[in-house]
Amino acid sequence: MMRVGIGNDIHRLEKGRKLIIGGVIIPSDKGEEAHSDGDVLIHAIIDAVLGATAMGDIGTLFPDDEVFTENMDSTIMLREVLQKTKCRIVNLDSTVHIEAPKLRSHIDAIRDNLSKIMNIPVSAVSVKAKTAEGLGPVGEGLAIASDAVILLEGAS
Ligand code: MG
Repeated sequence: MMRVGIGNDIHRLEKGRKLIIGGVIIPSDKGEEAHSDGDVLIHAIIDAVLGATAMGDIGTLFPDDEVFTENMDSTIMLREVLQKTKCRIVNLDSTVHIEAPKLRSHIDAIRDNLSKIMNIPVSAVSVKAKTAEGLGPVGEGLAIASDAVILLEGAS
């Protein structure tokens, strides 16, 4: 059986925080403000996987008021979720919305890292980056957001 899932996430950008996207640290003077490491792309992917399998959402599995999720590496969350679903990922498409820095030179490293975590070829991992043309909280550099769509095989 094939199942599709959608996820999105947004975090405030704060000075002195690490900017982590898809498990890759991106050089920047601002990063995601969060209880966990704030990896906005991984959080969107987790919600897409949980959505495809109708297993709830990231806030249910990893509450942001628990000690065990404090500064938690989001790649560990994704690995745990993938183990629970027992599904094979067919492909991922995603978009990261950020005004600065430009992500173009980091996209392949992010795709490569995600392909390893999800155990699928890099050719099945799409990560796109967009600015918001100066509009809204993303455009003003106050926030980073992400969308993810995932197709799973073997869910029941
Ligand atoms: Mg989040």
